[in-house]
Amino acid sequence: MSLTANWNYPTAIRFGAGRIKELVSVCQELNIHKPLLVTDAGLATLPVFAQVKALLSEGLPGTGVFDQVRPNPGGSDVEKGVALFRQGGHDGVVSIGGGSALDVGKAIALMAGQTLPLWDFEDVGDNWTRVNVAGVAPSVAIPTTSGTGSEVGRASLIIDEENHRKVIIFHPSMLPKIVLADPELTAGLPPKLTAATGVDAFVHNLEAYCSPFYHPMAQGVALEGMKLVHEYLQQAYDDGSNIEARSQMLAASIMGATAFQKGLGGVHALSHPIGAVFDTHHGLANAIMLPYVLVRNKAAIADKLAAAARYLNLPDCSFEGFLQWVLDLRQSLGIPHTLADIGIDESQAQLIAEGAKKDPSDGGNPVELSVDDYREIFIAAVKGIL
Ligand SMILES: [Zn+2]
Repeated sequence: MSLTANWNYPTAIRFGAGRIKELVSVCQELNIHKPLLVTDAGLATLPVFAQVKALLSEGLPGTGVFDQVRPNPGGSDVEKGVALFRQGGHDGVVSIGGGSALDVGKAIALMAGQTLPLWDFEDVGDNWTRVNVAGVAPSVAIPTTSGTGSEVGRASLIIDEENHRKVIIFHPSMLPKIVLADPELTAGLPPKLTAATGVDAFVHNLEAYCSPFYHPMAQGVALEGMKLVHEYLQQAYDDGSNIEARSQMLAASIMGATAFQKGLGGVHALSHPIGAVFDTHHGLANAIMLPYVLVRNKAAIADKLAAAARYLNLPDCSFEGFLQWVLDLRQSLGIPHTLADIGIDESQAQLIAEGAKKDPSDGGNPVELSVDDYREIFIAAVKGIL
């Protein structure tokens, strides 16, 4: 079976090994002749970035570079990028990297021609209608991890540094016009990041699958996305150069972010404030939190997880069987069982719980969770009490 294809759902996706070579023609198709190439400081030092930069500079000599995006990016990252975009007279954004670089790239494209400040477009009510659509620059997204699925999302997570808050900036036009999904670019991802981002992709599919909203298309995508993680994450972790496993994990990641238009849930509601306060890797925080939230949600999701267990062909097709598989997978990927293992104690429990309750992902949790519930789940995850 060939693992190369062109997909148009939810945006145009050129999927397959080696397709990064199409980057210049992809830009030309979108009338981008002077792109701003956006990435994070870590990726900027790696050969994969040098390769993409060379491709662009050769084909589109006016290419500019912003390579200082931080791991949990804030408003100032977006401001710096927008300033470079305007100074350089750029006409589009090419972002390459994990969720941070792609989120900042999308936000720079959004802000390129706006007069209102970024925070005016927080995903609350109909704020998004304030965007001047004519001022949004076209963007191309190139994922180098298989986790956030930011390349197919219509929003960016940006930290409001003054208020220690992760803010969701949303507008439908933030969806990249074309995604270049080349699994070879993910082959250099070290095992630890393969694990954390891979579990993030899994949690996107799982929380979307469990959310109570009506979205049968997303439901189907989510179930298949979980199956791909079940079959391929361990392989990608064990051998990063396995391009079949890398391809399927990249697909699972794209599927997770497509599916979570149906909603996320308590794992993300908690991992967002945890990331904002402790600068924790998003995927790692989700991977640690997952079983504690599943246990709390059991009454509402036991039947759904039993059905998922049957589709995944697990040996024990019950809620307990599903949970046990999650715990075993986490362990074989070297993910710690508790927040204490990554140096987080209980002292900020109330702050985290209040942040979780305010987080938009809270609305998709299958049972109503109060601030007290979130505090209990957080403390359980610190101590490792399932
Ligand atoms: Zn996530």
